[in-house]
Amino acid sequence: MVQAQRACLTSDYIARQLAEDASFKYQLAEVEKFIQSSSGNTNIIMSSTRAGAEMTIKIPVVIHVLYNTQDQNITDAQIKSGLEALNRDFRRNNADTTNTPARFKNIAADVQIEFVLATADPKGRFTTGVIRKQTSITDFKMDDKIKFSSQGGSDAWDSKSYLNIWIGNMRNLLGYSSSPGSAPEKDGVVITTKAFGTINAPAPYHLGRTAVHEVGHWLGLRHIWGETYCGDDLVDDTPIQGGYTTGCPTGFKTSCSNGDMGDMYMNYMDFTDDACMNLFTVGQKNRMRSLFNDGGPRFSLLLSKGLNEPWLSESPLPEISPVNPVIQIFPNPAVNELTLVLSNAWLGKEISIQSINGILIQKVKITSLTTKINIALFTPGLYMITGDALGEKIHSKFIKL
Ligand SMILES: [Zn+2]
Repeated sequence: MVQAQRACLTSDYIARQLAEDASFKYQLAEVEKFIQSSSGNTNIIMSSTRAGAEMTIKIPVVIHVLYNTQDQNITDAQIKSGLEALNRDFRRNNADTTNTPARFKNIAADVQIEFVLATADPKGRFTTGVIRKQTSITDFKMDDKIKFSSQGGSDAWDSKSYLNIWIGNMRNLLGYSSSPGSAPEKDGVVITTKAFGTINAPAPYHLGRTAVHEVGHWLGLRHIWGETYCGDDLVDDTPIQGGYTTGCPTGFKTSCSNGDMGDMYMNYMDFTDDACMNLFTVGQKNRMRSLFNDGGPRFSLLLSKGLNEPWLSESPLPEISPVNPVIQIFPNPAVNELTLVLSNAWLGKEISIQSINGILIQKVKITSLTTKINIALFTPGLYMITGDALGEKIHSKFIKL
């Protein structure tokens, strides 16, 4: 399905975190204070270990591929194309720099950040940098389930040392990102399967720029219009802009009295189609790189051993893990129908429904990942559902009203 507009939910995601966690506002404010205090020397990476004002920062990446159907288990080639797209645009090696309007050419930046698949896992074992897991979740949402093995996703690798990118099917979304200062176990970028890389990604999100946009958020960038009408993205050289831009406009557009500069709708942090975005600015570069200064929220990545030779000769993590135990039973209480969502391990197995006194009411053979059970004629009360499949156990209660 092709979205009418770039469906990035990062600002909604941040709003939700703010609503759920009172301390998150403080975390964000601390990060912003750090960025602003670094603004005089934002090109200086003050790491004693890998110093250099204009050094290229290499970020170890782990890709978590979550697939429900085999075609969502994307190829290594597609993954590689996604990394290449990130490096192409963050290094300003994109062929379409020629589409950057003349008035913005002198502020278009090579961000000098590169993204490399990890070679050593958090324990120092060999890794391809790619984890593949089958899941019973058919449609991931902004709820972070994709980030937790216990919920049908895949646990983050230590986000102080790795950029975690989760790829899974999200029906109506392109992606979302955490912001610097987020909880470590949720830190990273989520991209829908069909918008990652340049292979098997349908237009208009076919050039890998969903990840470029989301990693921009992960490195502290806001949307170019500052999330509100004529808002501020906290970057000096991006013109104030009325709102987001969709599709693929051409020519000069102006809003918010932004005068000679006009809207920078070709910036990666707008909502234009992949084919129509082509730059980060120097101001955005400085904002992103300031996070790597000593004491900054991304500084620890400079010390990561994720790109080292493996130093532990233990057998590597299995690249393909068994299906995650995901058991959902809803609604609860239920009136007429109960829905069970189970993993592949349950296919062909039976579950039992018992009264609270242990009397068997019904056995149900599981023939698909989603099973609906008619309970309209059950006597109201408390019931048990039990079962065992390859070590995955169900022992749940539900109430029939
Ligand atoms: Zn966004």
